[in-house]
Amino acid sequence: MNARIIDGKAISAAIKTEVAQRVHTLARQGITPGLAVVLVGEDPASQVYVRNKAAACEKAGLHSKVIRLASDTSEEALLDVVRELNNDASVHGILVQLPLPAQMNSSKVIETIAPAKDVDGFHISNAGLLMTGRPLVRPCTPYGIMKILESENTVVRGAEAVVVGASNIVGKPMALLLLAAGATVTLCNSKTRDLGAQTRRADILVVATGRPRMITGDMIKPGAIVIDVGINRQADGKLTGDVEFESACKVAGAITPVPGGVGPMTIAMLLVNTLEAAERCVHI
Ligand code: NDP
Repeated sequence: MNARIIDGKAISAAIKTEVAQRVHTLARQGITPGLAVVLVGEDPASQVYVRNKAAACEKAGLHSKVIRLASDTSEEALLDVVRELNNDASVHGILVQLPLPAQMNSSKVIETIAPAKDVDGFHISNAGLLMTGRPLVRPCTPYGIMKILESENTVVRGAEAVVVGASNIVGKPMALLLLAAGATVTLCNSKTRDLGAQTRRADILVVATGRPRMITGDMIKPGAIVIDVGINRQADGKLTGDVEFESACKVAGAITPVPGGVGPMTIAMLLVNTLEAAERCVHI
């Protein structure tokens, strides 16, 4: 079998086009959705992510501003910046780029963001709403994966879904979104015994561990849809996922490549979350 390669760039482009149309509609009511990204320090990967996010905003007609703070900024100074953005009516979405320098408590910083402006969906109140089936802001990466499943016409209701990796930003919210859509969900972590026995049951397999190529073809159910969230930089500079692409392609029915699969969806859903935060301001 040769898996269909899912084109995350194409799916995300369609979503961005729809965002641009809705931004245009809002503009007629005098509102331009605004995203503020706070970047602390000079981490090279974070710089690239922030640049890409700002560029995607501008392209879709959203307003974006990047607030750059020195790596030795105090936690209190960062909290003041966040509080100011909370009170800024031109800012509908606030994103503090992680990781933060060691002197800062990430949870405290995220919990200072107004939940309605928390476009990453990481605030405990957004996590709680998701858990109780009343989502307000869904974390971008798992939300984007649900959009991939939708665009692939994957039947989620009643499907066996296995999520490998249980982080707060990917694995756990992914499991909750799949559960809400009617899947029977298994959530695996580094202590899972016989991981292959779990993954081989999956009609929908989502892998987010940060362990390069750890899921091999023999761990995949024939015909499954495989979503590879991992972004790992190899010694040769190239990116690879958490799934061994070549062997997986021989077994899976469809698979997301790395790069070009989940990554572009994450940015597209950030735009959606910012747009929807602005739309909520109109509808209040
Ligand atoms: P974390 O390091 O926060 O979490 C990793 C999770 O994987 C943990 O739950 C850990 O288990 C689990 N894990 C680690 N090793 C194994 C193993 N051998 N078997 C089973 N489970 C294992 O990672 P993130 O969730 O933040 O990110 C995961 C990957 O996704 C990374 O490569 C990251 O770069 C990428 N990523 C990609 C995004 C995109 O837009 N495409 C967005 C966000 C992340 P335990 O809980 O027991 O420690």
